[in-house]
Amino acid sequence: MKKGKVWLVGAGPGDIGLLTKKAIELLARADFIAYDALVGEEILCMLPEDTEKVSVGKRSGRHSVPQEEINQILLEEAQKGKRVVRLKGGDPFVFGRGGEELELLEAQGIPFEVVPGVTSAVAVPAYAGIPVTHRDFTSSFHVITGHPRKDGSDRIDYEALVRMDATLVFLMSLTSMEQVLKRLMKAGMDKEMPAAVLERGTQCRQRKVVSTVAHLLEDARKAEIGTPAIIVVGRVCALSERFAWYEKRPLAGRQILVTRARSKASRLSEALREAGAEVLELPMIETKPLDAESVSFQELEEQPSGREVWLVFTSPVGVECFFAQYAEQKRDLRRVFQTGADIRFAVIGQATAAELKKYGWNADLVPEVYNGKALGKELAAHAGKDSQIYLLRAKEGSEELTEELEHSGHVWKEIAIYETVCRQESSFADLIKEKIEKGALDIVTFTSASTVRGFAQTMAGLDFTKVHALCIGEQTAAEAGKYGMKIEISDRASIDSMVEKMKTLYARE
Ligand code: SAH
Repeated sequence: MKKGKVWLVGAGPGDIGLLTKKAIELLARADFIAYDALVGEEILCMLPEDTEKVSVGKRSGRHSVPQEEINQILLEEAQKGKRVVRLKGGDPFVFGRGGEELELLEAQGIPFEVVPGVTSAVAVPAYAGIPVTHRDFTSSFHVITGHPRKDGSDRIDYEALVRMDATLVFLMSLTSMEQVLKRLMKAGMDKEMPAAVLERGTQCRQRKVVSTVAHLLEDARKAEIGTPAIIVVGRVCALSERFAWYEKRPLAGRQILVTRARSKASRLSEALREAGAEVLELPMIETKPLDAESVSFQELEEQPSGREVWLVFTSPVGVECFFAQYAEQKRDLRRVFQTGADIRFAVIGQATAAELKKYGWNADLVPEVYNGKALGKELAAHAGKDSQIYLLRAKEGSEELTEELEHSGHVWKEIAIYETVCRQESSFADLIKEKIEKGALDIVTFTSASTVRGFAQTMAGLDFTKVHALCIGEQTAAEAGKYGMKIEISDRASIDSMVEKMKTLYARE
């Protein structure tokens, strides 16, 4: 029997950027993923679509799976020969019951590995501007659970903690906050000692309340702090204001849904995250190269010498598919150039021009405005009357481009090289629907009409008037308009312009 293996993996406190490289690689190759409630939404949305996944944590009202059952699931899946990833919030061995999960595996001879994660005990204070140690204030920090044992007792020596004069980080202590603070003061801690409670650290709704040991309870109640949260006690808390950085970024506190093509690393997501936003990515459309047999490049290689020939690309993926198809068909690009035809390149925008450049070709024509209509107009103005235009693009591409060429009387021909297919389902569609219904998601970005259609299919049944949409251009906006979404349009059809638009929308007074 083929033996599987279990990886006990830390997911960090929420921010997807705090996921380790090893965790990302293991998730991509897993056959089975069991995750708990503390795993961030950004991370959930990037889990591979086709991998079997189970939630074993408490989330929106559902009960968590009992520990013994989790241990059993891991064992059984591994016994089926699978690569099992047990994904846990923070670090798996910091109050994560990671040890318990390994016991059964060890007893049954199932191989396992542990992948440490960034623990909330250190990262959450850091995101609140609190260094857990600082030479001027403290030389040690302690991570403690304030959660009492079943009989109500605990093993914490509060006198010892107070004597240490250290930074104290309490996990799982929100419900026992009153006891924790009282006992610290009873053990002799200065009532004016700075203290903080930090809610949902590293995630878009992170909040902090900074106070003193004497007043933290009252202040946290007033602010209605909820779980997950950690309590930090120590003089380093006083630095929180000076070292605050998280909320200073322009899109801090915003949660944005980016719809995109599958398997495309999104530059938009990167730029939004850099500006401080939390980005949920939802793969909406898949681009599929058409079968090599149905794509013919023969004509390109049979042009009369001297003829002006335009090769037109309307997306970066079109460029990519063109070269892939050429190679796949075992053709040789030299044949196109050996005809002696005067080959020119036209592209829809800078991103497509950049993709073309990767292959060593410069675009001769990029329209001012990045859309099909503008490209058609510019082509009509620049291409000679006797030229031959080839549109190398998606099947059923936009008619705006061809309408312009019809008008001007140019000779054009379409060579469809790929198609876009909408994805019907997504494991986390319900999570996203719920967020939109509750108004918890700030905005959804669309970079093409097909992403709008894909979104509408995946989110069937959603009240689309609740969707605040940021669209890359008029055509995309028109599609979003059909569903009654509330629409914003970026000034120019580029990723940078979309990010700028977002910053303007959420600019703080
Ligand atoms: N293994 C985890 C801790 C699990 S215990 C780690 O290393 O971070 C669960 C406790 O962790 C919660 O009760 C809370 O105190 C803390 N916690 C985890 N993630 C948090 C977050 N994003 N913000 C605030 N507290 C968090």
